Amino acid sequence: MKVSVLLPAAGSGERIGRGPKAFLRVGGKTLLDWALEGFAWADELVVALPPGFHKDGLKSVPGGQTRQQSVYNLLQAATGEVVLVHDVARPFVVRAAVERLMEAVLAVGAATLAVPVPDTLVREEDQQYGEVISREHYRLVQTPQGFRRAILWQAHQQARSEGVEFTDDAQLVQWLGHPVALVEGDRRMFKVTYPEDLALAEGLAQVWNY
Ligand code: C5P
Repeated sequence: MKVSVLLPAAGSGERIGRGPKAFLRVGGKTLLDWALEGFAWADELVVALPPGFHKDGLKSVPGGQTRQQSVYNLLQAATGEVVLVHDVARPFVVRAAVERLMEAVLAVGAATLAVPVPDTLVREEDQQYGEVISREHYRLVQTPQGFRRAILWQAHQQARSEGVEFTDDAQLVQWLGHPVALVEGDRRMFKVTYPEDLALAEGLAQVWNY
């Protein structure tokens, strides 16, 4: 079965403040190159790049105003029967986790990686320690997220016509009424979001080998 990997990479990287995140370097390589190498086995790779950016030898589409719009553009270009959507901000792709995900996608039609919450989870109430939420019922959602392309396409079209925006694709498919399997992720697939995450990524890059 043909698998397309879609990489939304058009974010501005505001929280780090060093230009588009896809082109930040870690261990001598851009985050985009890390992600591309992690999915080198895929039948097709398509990347949504920030306006004005281009990368030779790569199938790309222009990014949208939001992540959801970038994924919509990617889906229009994708030809695989199964699509894996992966944030370029997660440079370390753990093959075993992706294999677990693929199994669930084939069984359920939609699945995402997720990890348990390791810390105590509390509501902030006026900067005070508020209600504690039992962390065992919660998961932190990662990417990749995998779908039969037809399901994700239907969800995106419907969301566009109703003008709703979500932060990930699993939410879109759930909103459509389709079940989404939760599959055990891997903490090394963390999202480089804040400046201090770059130091963590740099450390992991030193010991990483595909
Ligand atoms: O901003 P956030 O960290 O949630 O972005 C998640 C992913 O979506 C990143 O890989 C980013 O490059 C991508 N994105 C995009 N187009 C946008 C905004 C974010 O492709 N307009």
